[in-house]
Amino acid sequence: MDNCIFCKIARGEIPARKILEDDDMVAFSDIHPHAPVHFLIIPKRHIESLANCDESDAALLGRMLAVAPRLAREQGSPDGFRTIINTGRVGRQEVYHLHIHVLGGPEPIPGPMVGR
Ligand code: AMP
Ligand code: ZN
Repeated sequence: MDNCIFCKIARGEIPARKILEDDDMVAFSDIHPHAPVHFLIIPKRHIESLANCDESDAALLGRMLAVAPRLAREQGSPDGFRTIINTGRVGRQEVYHLHIHVLGGPEPIPGPMVGR
């Protein structure tokens, strides 16, 4: 996708602080972090959102989730973290290229899971 910002990051066309890259996925720091540790895990292939996935994407989605614990530890969140996937209009997704947010830090994330 020519104008997708995360496709551009995956292709190396715009800068990002990448913390992992393999044939299928990239992880990089969020540009506006909401916690001391905040990075995104994306597929290299353009998938708009989790709403566009089905069982045929299970291996890719599983791998994206499965690297989160190691990356979280390496980035400074050894005692747990929070994963978020905002999906579609109702999920208030802003960038329409599937991404898993991983938030954490040395201390617990302040506040409830969602605002009221
Ligand atoms: P979402 O609301 O789930 O679609 O979140 C999109 C996230 O992408 C936000 O947390 C943004 O801060 C982040 N973001 C947008 N542009 C960039 C960029 N160029 N590099 C890193 N993170 C970005
Ligand atoms: Zn894309």
